[in-house]
Parts: sequence; C-alpha cells; structure tokens
Amino acid sequence: MKVSYHPGYVVPLPEKHAFPMGKFSALHEILLAECVIAPEDVMTPREADWSDLLLVHTREYLDALATSTLTRQAERRMGLPQSPGLWRRSRLAVQGTMNACLAALTDARGLAGNLAGGTHHSHPEGGRGFCVLNDVAVALISLQRAGWLRRALVVDLDVHQGDGNAFVFGGERAWPRGGVYTLSLHGAKNYPFVKPPSTRDVPLADGTGDDEYLATLAHHLPLALRESDPDLVVYLAGVDVLADDRFGRLSLTREGLAVRDRYVCETVRASGVPLCLLLSGGYATRGARADRRTSAHDTADLHATVFREALSAYGLR
Ligand SMILES: [Zn+2]
Repeated sequence: MKVSYHPGYVVPLPEKHAFPMGKFSALHEILLAECVIAPEDVMTPREADWSDLLLVHTREYLDALATSTLTRQAERRMGLPQSPGLWRRSRLAVQGTMNACLAALTDARGLAGNLAGGTHHSHPEGGRGFCVLNDVAVALISLQRAGWLRRALVVDLDVHQGDGNAFVFGGERAWPRGGVYTLSLHGAKNYPFVKPPSTRDVPLADGTGDDEYLATLAHHLPLALRESDPDLVVYLAGVDVLADDRFGRLSLTREGLAVRDRYVCETVRASGVPLCLLLSGGYATRGARADRRTSAHDTADLHATVFREALSAYGLR
C-alpha cells in the first residue's frame, strides 16, 4: 500500500505539550516493522504550493504562519506553537494527503494513505484544535480543479466534529453542487462547541460503546456512500474514540476500533470506490504514568489499526 511520509512530519514541541507529535515517526516505524508497508511504498512529499493552499486559506493567515507572526490568540486557538518547522510540517502533510488521494485514484486496488493528515478543524482564516492547514479541503479542491475527480465522500470518524471541513464544504461548495459530501460521527458534547453542519452529522452521547457505535456506523456509511456516489472516499480514521483517550468521551475498545476500521475498508472496497486513509486525532494514555514518548507510541499503535485492517480487507495479506 502506497503511503505518504516525511521525517519532517515531526517537529519539536515544548515539554509537557499535550500533542503526541512523535506518533508520526512511530507509526512509520511500526508499519515498516510489521511489513504493513514496504520501504518502496513510501512516497515522500514536498511542501504544498501556495497556489493550492490559497484554494482554501486566506493569504493573511498563510503570511502570518509563514513568518511566525500569528497573534497570541490565533496561536492559542491553533493549539500548537508557531515556528518555521511547524509551517514546513503542515505544508508537507497537505502535500502528503494530496499525493495519497492521487495514489488511491491511480492505484490498481484503489488504496493509499498518508501517515498524517485529517486536520479537520482548520478553517480558511486560522488553525484550530491542533490543526494548522486543512489538508483534506486543499487536496480535494485542487484535485477537482485538475479534473481528477468530481465528487468525493469524507468519512470523518474522529471523535471531534469536522468543523473546518463542514465550513469549507458548506454554502457554495456544499454537496451536491460542490461535489464533496461530509459524514461526521462525533461526540455531541465534545469540541468544537460550534459545529457548522456537515452533509450528514451523527452526534453521539458521552460513553457510547462498541455495539451502539458500530450499529450507528453500519446505518449511516452505506447511506452516505449511496447518496454521494463518490469518485473517492477520504477516511479520517481518528483513534480518539477509545475509552481511555484523554479527550475522547466515548467508550470504544481496541477490538471495537479494529472492527470499525475493517468495516469501513470492506464497505468502501465493495463499492469499488478508491479509498484514501488519513490519521486525524488520537491522544492515548496509560493512566497517570503516561509520558510523552509512551503516549506517542501508544497512539501510533492505535493509528496502525486502520492500515493493518486495510491490508486484510484489500486481500494484500
Ligand atoms: Zn479528534
């Protein structure tokens, strides 16, 4: 399976920062060690072009990011400290998603992924909730303009609602006219507290467990696939749905997560539509003893689930 990855996906963060930045390199190592990917499967992105970023983001925001001159308030909303490394990292991840979408569209089996991405809270004028640039919006709009696809389905199973994607793909860009259909299953009471409408929003109560979650997904995913009739499915396979996630508030088990990812992969494969896998969020902890390195490794191991399940679902092992 072709995947995008760049060592520059990881940039240093201050000690005690909540974001498990090391998860990207840890995931790359885990997938290679388990032979889920081979070294020759790895596509190394360059930094996304300004012309593509400007399809979604305002020039003011990009200028401020590029020069590390965001206001304190804008930086706080983004949740990550601005730096030249973060700007580079964010552009690499956007291009990684674009390359992965293109790889899925051109791959014989119709499967590819990015070992990052799914930064669905990012808005045109600013970053939010650990999301700097909106990789999905930039990639899909750019690929639409280049004639690679007309319609796409964004399946967003991160525990947080995809407000940035919903905002960008609302209004003029809304499905069916704009061609991008957004499905979001998320914690009803969780961040973001203002949720612009997705095409199909499915709010879940705190504490929702495996059975209810999987039954809900089994109802809504086939409907979304049928309604959207997409040329590409982009799957935001956030792992913050787990019971012990620091920010999650739902109660899925590891087994439930694997069943979820297997179900999405098998359903999309059966539909014949190409599938692009993205990470989105995950904040694993081992109780009070969790340190940054443990958290990053545990989170990466959870993110590996969707790639392992995809391999099986697509008969690649
Ligand atoms: Zn999340």
